Amino acid sequence: TALPLAPPLSIRTHCPYCAYQCGMLVGDGSSDAPAGVQGDPHFPVNNGQLCIKGWTATTLLRHPERVTTPLVKHRGELRSASWDAALDDVADAIRRTKAEYGADAVGFFGSGALTNETAYLLGKFARVAVGTANIDYNGRYCMSSAAAGGNRAFGIDRGLPFPIDDLERADVILLVGANPADTLPPITQWFERQKKAGGRLAVIDPRKTATAKLADLFLQTTPGTDLTLANGLLYLAIEEGLVNEEYVAARTNGFDAVRRVALQYHPAHVERLTGVGEPTLRKLVRWLGTARSAMILSGRGAEQHTKGVDTVHAFINLALALGLPGKPSSGWGCLTGQGNGQGGREHGQKADQLPGYRLIEVEAHRQHIADVWGVEPDSLPRKGKSAFELLDACGPSGGIRSLFVMGSNVAVASPDLNRIDSRLSSLDHLTVCDSFLNDTTAHAHVVLPVYQWAEEEGTMTNLEGRVIRRRRVARPPTGVRGDLDVLRELAERLGHKDKFDFAAPADVFEEFRRATAGGTADYAGITYERIDREDGVFWPCPSEEHPGTPRLFTERFHHTDGRAKFFPVEHRAAGEEPDAGYPFFFTTGRYREHYNSGAQTRLVGVLAKAKPRPVLQIHPAAAGRHRIGAGSKVTLESRRGRAEFAADVTPEIRPDTLFAPFHWGGREAANRLVGGFLDPVSRMPEFKLAAVRIVGAAG
Ligand code: SF4
Repeated sequence: TALPLAPPLSIRTHCPYCAYQCGMLVGDGSSDAPAGVQGDPHFPVNNGQLCIKGWTATTLLRHPERVTTPLVKHRGELRSASWDAALDDVADAIRRTKAEYGADAVGFFGSGALTNETAYLLGKFARVAVGTANIDYNGRYCMSSAAAGGNRAFGIDRGLPFPIDDLERADVILLVGANPADTLPPITQWFERQKKAGGRLAVIDPRKTATAKLADLFLQTTPGTDLTLANGLLYLAIEEGLVNEEYVAARTNGFDAVRRVALQYHPAHVERLTGVGEPTLRKLVRWLGTARSAMILSGRGAEQHTKGVDTVHAFINLALALGLPGKPSSGWGCLTGQGNGQGGREHGQKADQLPGYRLIEVEAHRQHIADVWGVEPDSLPRKGKSAFELLDACGPSGGIRSLFVMGSNVAVASPDLNRIDSRLSSLDHLTVCDSFLNDTTAHAHVVLPVYQWAEEEGTMTNLEGRVIRRRRVARPPTGVRGDLDVLRELAERLGHKDKFDFAAPADVFEEFRRATAGGTADYAGITYERIDREDGVFWPCPSEEHPGTPRLFTERFHHTDGRAKFFPVEHRAAGEEPDAGYPFFFTTGRYREHYNSGAQTRLVGVLAKAKPRPVLQIHPAAAGRHRIGAGSKVTLESRRGRAEFAADVTPEIRPDTLFAPFHWGGREAANRLVGGFLDPVSRMPEFKLAAVRIVGAAG
């Protein structure tokens, strides 16, 4: 659906939403706020295509509900205040908290929506200007399991180890727990080309999604059993002689232990757990094992589990055994979610990381960053709390007394929302930097109104690891400031002006390049000019003479010995499984029309009209037992809370499973049902599996 355009559209930038980061042409710099956009036909990722969210992205620039003045809580109400008063309030709260409870009592929560420059500066601000260990971001809820699996297996974490156009040359693509036809719609052009060239698409999902409907083979699994399915595929690969023994010997370590584990996953055992029979498993593994090129791509459906990292390992094990990673148009990758989900996790917003994907507990890494920042390595905090643990520690009992949130609606996006609501409301002080009021600002003491995507300069890193430029194409409304201005002003108030005195994002980027130099995510050779000239530059890119690295692993993996690592992984139960009291699996996902917590897209008329409410998918057999018809109002309950949805009775979901989207808050918040069970390695919450019961149905 195209909105009216405001020609001429000539400035090249990128969509504010997902990690596909579609190229857009927006305005010509002459209007305050362009009314429309056009897909950039020359950006090689989307080739001119946009989804409905991209087409309508400019709607929010001059939206009547936009916050255009700082707000400070006074007698329980948020009231307009001057920037000086609001920033003084925030700085006072940080100072007071540090003095009374220590620096670690100040928490920071960042976002995968922030530019690389802002993500970098927020991490530096937390560690240098405040000195707290407690900074994490909403990407912990998104990419952390894939990141941990990729790092451990390959020695590097980049969503896709190849450019997106490799998809069209893959003989077989297997998607696991990913629904990109709804979440990254322009990607389907590559599936279409791939299929036209004779390729095959297979999809693993508990729901028959829009993507599953495109598939040549659909495996409708029991929620939480992807790991088992992957081990079962490896069992059959071994049995059918499909293991690439030469590749395994030359390029990997640790297969023997994985082989021993996989041989316990007999197809009958796998069918009992996953619901997928041997003929289908055998067909899929033959496709993967005999293709000239094959890729396995995972999404949040496979990763957002307490065994998310192990599930990623199970599919990487399969890919390695078949000799895929490093071969043309082959290997394992993950489809990153948030706009800067990739860059956001590389540059120091994560509790355990410093810029350039350096590790905060490694002395040499601390030394490098301390040198760039002009501080002593010992002054840098150690590893802090992960996202959910940080929020769960808010309030007097957990020790986080003051929280600073930048670009994240944590009161919708987090699991166990009743608990998180009570934690947020027990903070001494909460600051939220955002463009609109939302469920999180409802708890805030200060709201700072900041630029939107089209009003700021900076860089983003898309799902391919391609670093691209976000351009300023609109004048921000009066009263609104940039994220970088906010951090600079606060640093000055806290006595650290010298380390945050950047005039423009380009200046931050220059320091950021030095900070990343020599790290895994090395941006040292990337400049704004190169990005413009080359349609983005792929990291690692260690020097300006280096061409960038569109394809990883062609010669070696990134462990010191150059080899990839197998990890033996076993099936285990989820944080909670359905039982007599809570008999249904509950799982969540996205609508094409909405993005993450919906704080932005629910304000866009076209999108809100298309998807005004969250709808619960329920199988006809389950609906019949509970006298539920299409449109019935259904109340679900888990051990943590309740949520209400209108029903969609459909055979596209398994009879034992219920599905709802997570874009809404309040009584319609799917995440009120979800528990705070965490993966032991990535600290990813188990968003994709909870046990629920139906406690009410009307209409
Ligand atoms: Fe492209 Fe994602 Fe934006 Fe849609 S939301 S236009 S797929 S970047």
